[in-house]
Amino acid sequence: MQVPLLDLKPQYQALKEAIDTAIERVVTSQGFILGPEVEGLESEMAAYLGVPHAVGCASGTDAILLPLRALDPEPGDEVVMPAFTFFATAGAAWNAGFRPVFCDIDPATFNVTRATLEAAWTERTRSVVPVHLFGQMAPMAEIKALARERGSMVLEDCAQAIGARQEDDSGEGPVMAGASGDAGAFSFFPTKNLGGFGDGGLVTSRDADLAEKVAKLRVHGGRQMYHHEMVGTNSRLDALQAAVLRVKLPHLDDWARARRENACLYHGGLDDVVEVKLPEVMEGNFHVYNQFTLRADRRDDLRAHLAEAGIGSGIYYPVPLHLQPCFHELGGREGMLPETERACREVLSLPIFPEVGKERVERVIAEIRRFYGYGV
Ligand SMILES: *Cc1c(COP(=O)(O)O)cnc(C)c1O
Repeated sequence: MQVPLLDLKPQYQALKEAIDTAIERVVTSQGFILGPEVEGLESEMAAYLGVPHAVGCASGTDAILLPLRALDPEPGDEVVMPAFTFFATAGAAWNAGFRPVFCDIDPATFNVTRATLEAAWTERTRSVVPVHLFGQMAPMAEIKALARERGSMVLEDCAQAIGARQEDDSGEGPVMAGASGDAGAFSFFPTKNLGGFGDGGLVTSRDADLAEKVAKLRVHGGRQMYHHEMVGTNSRLDALQAAVLRVKLPHLDDWARARRENACLYHGGLDDVVEVKLPEVMEGNFHVYNQFTLRADRRDDLRAHLAEAGIGSGIYYPVPLHLQPCFHELGGREGMLPETERACREVLSLPIFPEVGKERVERVIAEIRRFYGYGV
């Protein structure tokens, strides 16, 4: 029995009829760029997330870039973000005109905290980008408090955390990822929890002016064709992607439930294995497990053992951003961000996609137990 890290086919098979109908609707209309499908997705996403504004764009990368560009950075302005994230978080900030400044993470959750962000803060900091890594939100209350004190924008990187939520101190129930900060960035890359049939992204905002500016920047800086108030770019979401995503969105919470059940199985089956450290969920957090990422002794040997047994796994991320060659000039050195660097050496992500099923999760558990010499 093979266990892939991810298999997208069963999700398509389950929704094939509805998806094919939606695609046909777009093809028949021949309206491929923005238009009613994208507007429909924007309002459905805004309603789902409980946020007033949502603007579709070409990718998750651009969903980070556009709200940062909207700050009109001066040379030398900085954005603080974790070094333990996908490259896009930093690449987008760089391309928006900022200097990315990398901070460390909380080893328990792999996320930034007020303290780790504060350690990297300077008087040039214009924005912070907490990344809700692997599907769990960073502690937003303390992060927002810090940003408020210092007058910086909070942009949530929600690429891995669509549908994640967190209790806050308002007493009004949990807040969704992307509805907590000043703006949120979502990705519809096929491997994310809500994946399209290609690239796509979305910016959320609680601020009407920011949303309006992002909506202009995505179409060359003007709402009216051939009238340009600022220099933007082409970062439009296409109607085919929006149509597919609108079919999938109503199923997102069911898929999150299945991912969480799989996480429960892993916890039950690996609880006594002292060589692995299972992911921790912070109190008040609803984790949506885009990845189920543990820390493992002899990680690379375990990964090879799993591969030999036909089990897929992933290392997110092997090299921290402060040590990437392209950011050499930013002065990153080994030893600078110890928890990030340790995570890069220890993490391993296991199959958790909704359709993986109990039998295959149990197979993964059995192979991990066997590797460390535990009874199955
Ligand atoms: C996937 C991802 C992105 C970028 O999204 P794309 O749609 O691939 O451009 C940004 N940040 C994080 C944390 C991601 O996982």
